[in-house]
Amino acid sequence: MRKLAAGNWKMNGLDADLNGFASLPNGPSELLICPPATMISALRVRFPDHIQLGAQDCHAEVSGAYTGEISAHMLREAGASHVILGHSERRDAFDESDDDVAEKAEAAYDAGLIAIICVGESLSERDSGNTLDVIRTSLAASVPDAATPQTTIIAYEPVWAIGTGRTPTLEQIAEVHDFIHTTLQSRFGATFRILYGGSMKPGNAADICALPHVSGGLIGGASLSPDDFGAIAQALS
Ligand code: PEP
Repeated sequence: MRKLAAGNWKMNGLDADLNGFASLPNGPSELLICPPATMISALRVRFPDHIQLGAQDCHAEVSGAYTGEISAHMLREAGASHVILGHSERRDAFDESDDDVAEKAEAAYDAGLIAIICVGESLSERDSGNTLDVIRTSLAASVPDAATPQTTIIAYEPVWAIGTGRTPTLEQIAEVHDFIHTTLQSRFGATFRILYGGSMKPGNAADICALPHVSGGLIGGASLSPDDFGAIAQALS
């Protein structure tokens, strides 16, 4: 299976910023861009089919009186194939719990979206030696029993590495990816794709993605530049 380069644009992206993305080649890595939800349907028309589109969140309900929210079915209809769930910025700023993430993942499955479920430790959790416990707890509660490798991708994103320019050592990344792989293998009897996210750049992508059980990257800041995102996609393979 090809490695996956998944870009999380967060609350960035206006029409003027799009030059260069549509011409990213269908190269050795799978490409996925998760723009603000308002852009998904327009980009589905403008981007070639090999650039998949995803959302950055969804609501757990299909429809209803939830002002400001967007359902997984709506995202699917707009042209999304994936949705990022449980990003640390949503867990921190919007108080999302593991249970919320699991409910949203089930909504994503119902709509035919692939859920990219994010897990990761804070700096204090790492410093106190609790990284694997945090990951274990978060995986147990935020990945639904219905998850399959076809419907679910895990993203390991140490919170302290997101947007900071700091990355864990290769040994630290390898340890956590191996742990996630083993944990899901024993729970589901299946191998899931596991992305690494946190200050991934063209210069470190190849080394990180050469580690066992690293299936690609979830890329924030560097995905806003078509040159950097394209270079990372090349390096992943
Ligand atoms: C992210 O927000 O998912 C992320 C990995 O951001 P960055 O690459 O900027 O650290």
